[in-house]
Amino acid sequence: MSDAIFCAGCGIPIQTLDKKQLGYAPPSALERETVICQRCFRLKHYHEIQDVSLTDDDFLKMLSKIGQTKALVVNIIDIFDFSGSWVPGLQRLVGKNPILLVGNKVDLLPKSTNKNKLKNWMQHEVKELGLKPLDVLLMSAEKKIGIQEVAEAIDYYRKGQDVYIVGCTNVGKSTFINQLIHQVTGEEEVITTSNFPGTTLNFIDIPLEDGHSLYDTPGVVNHHQVAHYIQDREYKIVMPKKEIKPKVFQLNEAQTLFLGGLARLDYVRGGRRSLVVYVSNDLYIHRTKQENADELYENQYGELLKPPSDPSYKLPEMKRHDFVIKDDEMDIVFSGLGWITVKGTDAHVTAYAPDGIGVMIRKTII
Ligand code: GDP
Repeated sequence: MSDAIFCAGCGIPIQTLDKKQLGYAPPSALERETVICQRCFRLKHYHEIQDVSLTDDDFLKMLSKIGQTKALVVNIIDIFDFSGSWVPGLQRLVGKNPILLVGNKVDLLPKSTNKNKLKNWMQHEVKELGLKPLDVLLMSAEKKIGIQEVAEAIDYYRKGQDVYIVGCTNVGKSTFINQLIHQVTGEEEVITTSNFPGTTLNFIDIPLEDGHSLYDTPGVVNHHQVAHYIQDREYKIVMPKKEIKPKVFQLNEAQTLFLGGLARLDYVRGGRRSLVVYVSNDLYIHRTKQENADELYENQYGELLKPPSDPSYKLPEMKRHDFVIKDDEMDIVFSGLGWITVKGTDAHVTAYAPDGIGVMIRKTII
């Protein structure tokens, strides 16, 4: 039997028999020096995403293999979508292995963001979730900020062992690894990165100098992210590409902000105050009176309130979340969409988002 060939894009074993299964490549592709599967090929050349037949269980099983080896685990999270990019049960999956926590996409936050406050906040949050990272770092894989520091920290903490890069889909693992490879070899875009979640399918093995390896792992899909509820073209509007310009609204009681047709925040009670919206600069924010909000949503969903830009596109029913803010300024987070900081204390707000999308309250991060 000949040696298995692996896709240079996503790491899946290549097969030439079944077009519908993962890893398919036409036989002619095997003659090329670098073989990529049809899915990665289409993704790279046409920016099309094909459905994958891996289940969450498969993903988690693949990750739990890490628990059986000795290695440094680098957990990348998207700081724009912290809770949405959290890998549930990570500590358990990776066993006793040390974890380095890296917050990616720092370029999206306003320049004025206090990085130390953010790192302390991350430390605190992950501790609550049961994770004790060795260290917390920030970077922008895409804008090449902080890559060197992360690379040095990996080298320092791995103590001569293998490295696994883990994270939810779409946090920027492939972008980061491509940057690392680029630094070492000068090659561009070896691994497929894309606008769409879920592009990395299997462990990709990148040899390190001392005979050990750095592995890119498949992303775990976090179903609470807004990305899973909207169409690809709308995802591009919702996902910020550059530094977010916070939008400040002075609201009276009983006023409402709509984030397109995807989410809504009612400022119910607490006197006049400012709310600061951190979402993609391209996402339309509409302000109205709370008493008109239901009717407006009914009539303008998919019209004025978009995305979705098609009124017939059905989202799950809007689910209501009530929050009381007492002694501290708080962020109301819509997973994958962004967050709204409610300035000051003593306020009542009600958030709405399609059922299934994570909505939560947290201490302000900016
Ligand atoms: P993976 O699924 O974790 O491997 O994520 P990818 O590397 O494919 O990246 C997912 C998306 O996030 C792509 O659209 C990237 O362009 C984008 N991305 C990755 N790193 C950054 C970053 O540092 N800043 C910003 N703004 N976007 C990033």
